[in-house]
Amino acid sequence: MIIAVASGKGGTGKTTVAVNLALSLPNVQVLDCDVEEPNSHIFLNPVNEEIKPAYTRVPTVNYDRCDYCGKCAAACEYNALVVVPQKEVMVFPELCHGCGLCTMVCPQDAISEEQREIGVIKTGKSSDGNIDIDLVYGLLNIGEVMATPLIDQVKAELNPEKTVIIDVSPGTACPVIAAVQGSDYCVLVTEPTPFGLYDLRLAIEVLRVLKIPFGVVINKAGIGDRKVYEHCEKEGIPILLEIPHDKRIARCYSEGVPFVKDMPEWKERFAEIIDKILL
Ligand code: SF4
Ligand code: SF4
Repeated sequence: MIIAVASGKGGTGKTTVAVNLALSLPNVQVLDCDVEEPNSHIFLNPVNEEIKPAYTRVPTVNYDRCDYCGKCAAACEYNALVVVPQKEVMVFPELCHGCGLCTMVCPQDAISEEQREIGVIKTGKSSDGNIDIDLVYGLLNIGEVMATPLIDQVKAELNPEKTVIIDVSPGTACPVIAAVQGSDYCVLVTEPTPFGLYDLRLAIEVLRVLKIPFGVVINKAGIGDRKVYEHCEKEGIPILLEIPHDKRIARCYSEGVPFVKDMPEWKERFAEIIDKILL
């Protein structure tokens, strides 16, 4: 089963939910696809990390063949190519999505592809008593804007023999869609505030378009108002868990400790999320 943990906005406790859920279930793999700011490893402390570079493909032009027809630039949806007649085919690697279309449309067979490093993928194992968690996370190079190819490469490490928990980046943009696509279920983490509700609604819209079933975890329960609860009730969205705004939980977070380690009674509550998902 693949469970994505997402949130419409940052700072709601998405990673807290992902790692505590992971520590409450057997046979888990965590894929941290929040590649611009992965945090799961801070809580899970993986050992024996292996690091490998992650690449995307970018076009390179053979000027012995190119006749500056402009077909490659016309085909590129992302404006990553500009043809300067009789002079140059300018490639903007940071805009290139590595789709390969320009290579296919070039009538002169003048375009080939080369690799461009965009970050790294780290894999390791986290152990907590008798629980072992496999962790894979991507780390995008500073200044790199193309998160999606790295997310795809993190997801390529998915182990179908395990319960897979995907930590998704916050928001509703392309990296979120790349991370949640293919999931069996999405846990949306929110907080009971007007901002939380606004961003939750956006995330719900995305999941409905993607046709991925979802439920809500309310973090920092007790602050704000009841509008998130009312919205979920009106829309028939299950509330999977409430995590109170609690000093002990906040202290664990600030120390980089998943709070189920300090408060093991919560493991059962996190594990029950799976029962609710399967209902
Ligand atoms: S499509 Fe090929 S031949 Fe035409 S401008 Fe692009 S690289 Fe040159
Ligand atoms: S590979 Fe795709 S995105 Fe990149 S320049 Fe070619 S057409 Fe554009």
